[in-house]
Order: sequence, then C-alpha cells, then structure tokens
Amino acid sequence: MLTFDHILIRYGELALKGKNRHMFEKQLVQNIRSVLKPSFPRLTYHRTFGRILLGLNGEDPVPIKDKLRKIFGIHSFSLAIRVTNELDKMKQAALHALQASEGEVRTFKINARRAYKPFPISSSELNHHLGGFVLANTDQISVDVHSPDVEIKVEVRESGTYIMTGEFKGLGGLPVGTSGKVLLMLSGGIDSPVAGYYLLKRGVTLEAIHFHSPPFTNEKAKQKVVDLAAKLTNFGGQVKLHIVPFTELQKHIHEKVPSNMEMTIMRRMMLRISEGIAKKIDALAIATGESLGQVASQTLHSMNTINEVTNTPVLRPLLTMDKEEVITVAKEIDTFNISILPYEDCCTIFLPPDSKTKPTRQQAEKFEQFVETEAYVQAAIEGTETMVIKSEAAVSKTEMDELL
Ligand code: ATP
Ligand code: MG
Repeated sequence: MLTFDHILIRYGELALKGKNRHMFEKQLVQNIRSVLKPSFPRLTYHRTFGRILLGLNGEDPVPIKDKLRKIFGIHSFSLAIRVTNELDKMKQAALHALQASEGEVRTFKINARRAYKPFPISSSELNHHLGGFVLANTDQISVDVHSPDVEIKVEVRESGTYIMTGEFKGLGGLPVGTSGKVLLMLSGGIDSPVAGYYLLKRGVTLEAIHFHSPPFTNEKAKQKVVDLAAKLTNFGGQVKLHIVPFTELQKHIHEKVPSNMEMTIMRRMMLRISEGIAKKIDALAIATGESLGQVASQTLHSMNTINEVTNTPVLRPLLTMDKEEVITVAKEIDTFNISILPYEDCCTIFLPPDSKTKPTRQQAEKFEQFVETEAYVQAAIEGTETMVIKSEAAVSKTEMDELL
C-alpha cells in the first residue's frame, strides 16, 4: 500500500565542502537521532549526499515534525512516499501523493530530479511520464509549470525514489557541535539566553557560567538560571552549567572600590574568572548577552575597558539588537517568562546608581591596586561547581532541590 513512510531532510549552507561537509552531515544525523530516538525508537536514519532520510516504520510523523523544526542545520523537510526505482511504481505514487493533498487542487506540476545517474530515464522524461499518467487518471486537473496548486517533487536515489508534495521550513543554521565550544555568561536576565540561542544556531557547543552571590541572591535566582539553561537544551543537547561563588569577591570590591567604578571592576573580575574556566574546559571564546548602549556597562567605552583583561575572544551575538527584538526572540524560544521572574541576580544587588559610562583602563587599573585580584579570582575558580543539564524534562523541581 502506498503511504508517506519517510521524511526527507534537506540542509543548506552549500558552501561547506570536502571534509567539513562530511563532519557537518555526521553531526546533524547524530543530533537528529539524539532528539528523536528516545520517543520514536522505530525510526531509521540514512545519510545520502545532500539529504537525510528518516524511515518512519509506523511512527507518527506529526510530533516528529515539531521536533525537527527545532534542530539547527535543517533547511527544510518533506513527508515522502518511497518506492523502488521502477517507473510504474513512481506513477502510482505520484498519483497517490496528488490525491492525498489537502485543499482544492486544480493544477499541478511534476518536478523530478535524478540524483542517481545510473537510472536510465532523465529528469525531463520523468516529468513527462509521470505528468501524463496523473493527467490520464484524474478529472479536471491540468498542468501549470509556473504556479501550480501542488508541486509533486520526485527524487530518484540509489536507495529508492522519494515522492513528496509539501515542504516544511527548518531553523537553518549549522548543526550544534560543528563550530567549537563557547562559554556563555548566563545571568537570569532576558538577553543572555537569547545570545545562547544564536550561538547554538551557528553550531556552537555551549557551556554556561553563572555568578552566584548567596545569601544576597537566593536559591530561586539560581533555579532560574538552571531553568534557562534547560530551555537551551531544546536546541542543542546537554548544557554544562558552571556556578561560580561570587559573594566574597563582590564584598571585597564593594569595600575597596568607589561606587562609581564598582561595576567596571566587578565585570573585569567576572571576565577574568570566565577566562580561567574557559581555559579549563577548552572553550575557544566567551560570550555575553550585551547589546550596545543598553546600560552603562554596555557602552563601547565600558566594553573596551572591561574587555581589556582578556585575550580570549568575547562574542556578543546581540550587540546590534534592540531590546524589543531580543524580547521577541526570548518569547519564541520560551525563555522570556522565566527571565522576568523577579529574583535578583548578583549584579543588581550591589550596583550603585552612579556607574561611570566612560570608565578608562587607567581608572580601572588604579582601583584594582587595592583589590587582591589573583587570590579572589583563583578562589572563585576553585569553588566553582558544575552541573550537567541534559534536557528540559530532566530538571524537575524536586530533583533540583536535592542538587542545590
Ligand atoms: P541579561 O538580560 O542577559 O541579564 P542585562 O541587560 O541585564 O542582560 P547586564 O546585567 O548588564 O545586562 O549583563 C550583561 C551581560 O553580562 C549578560 O548578558 C551576561 O552575559 C553577563 N552577566 C551579567 N550577570 C551575570 C551573572 N550573574 N552571571 C553570568 N553572567 C552574567
Ligand atoms: Mg542582567
């Protein structure tokens, strides 16, 4: 019986060639498999040049489609009927695909592609054969090659011929795990999770670092960050979260540094600690949710003075985005409602209202003379605890209570 028994997955970024392409394809199959396998054990996975073919084996395609929509590196995908490479079978399948189309169908077009060259019939001949058969077996339907109601795509491959009618858009981007590792500075706010999402989009393997200042910041603030990291796992498998004890260092800075320079010095310390952790975990860059001019610490002057403490690249995916744009994405990726919960994070607690918007390197260095940078940075790195967050579902409240 003819039925849509496969999903054909396309990926973009044709610029990727040679060795990279192979690595890219392998990683994408692995990512798809790790998302789908637990819930859909009967699926089979087949990689062929330029396509990934999922065999459904009776699994329901509807929830699978929802999951595929969240996997980076997928350009588009279609439900497909697979038949053996025989013209008669192809004809029947093309007719079936057209008849199964939803909505009113008055016109159609066949779009055949012979990816498997040993097959003896060319693409344009196939268009004619299949189109002729469909016309002969339907009433009041005609061909329209320019804007048909239904386009029947036919791909002849070595493993069989795939016949499709609809196409669903994927997220694009690169498969997570193909671009190296980045350490994301994750606060409980709106911006940094969105920055994480954009990094995952470009194939980055993400670990997160959070600065926690108990008792000034409470367990709920920490839970928020765990929940945000868990949301990010929806797009990229597990996320490791490094929690840095920041209380002592913050108190020390508060004591030693005039209030209008506190924020700058605190940020420099955060960056030094992040660099230390990045080295430990072999991350190639650090990332933040900063956006140019959003607050005092995010002016170019501030960034310059803060950034000066490290040679590790600091990536800022949101640099040019307006808050509204960031909020729109935060809602789409479902982090917004967590981010707006009212628990204070470490930066808000000590922050004076009079932060300098143009702190200079000389000023920062002058006040750091009174701070025991090395000792406190080392202590913070040594006291850091790491949690592995595997998936959103895995973080239940009770489990977390035991961990915290
Ligand atoms: P966010 O919404 O991401 O908190 P924000 O607009 O509130 O950003 P800031 O609080 O100035 O901005 O923080 C700027 C960036 O510094 C954050 O996007 C984040 O990358 C990093 N950051 C701030 N606080 C922390 C923290 N407690 N732990 C880890 N990173 C932090
Ligand atoms: Mg913040």
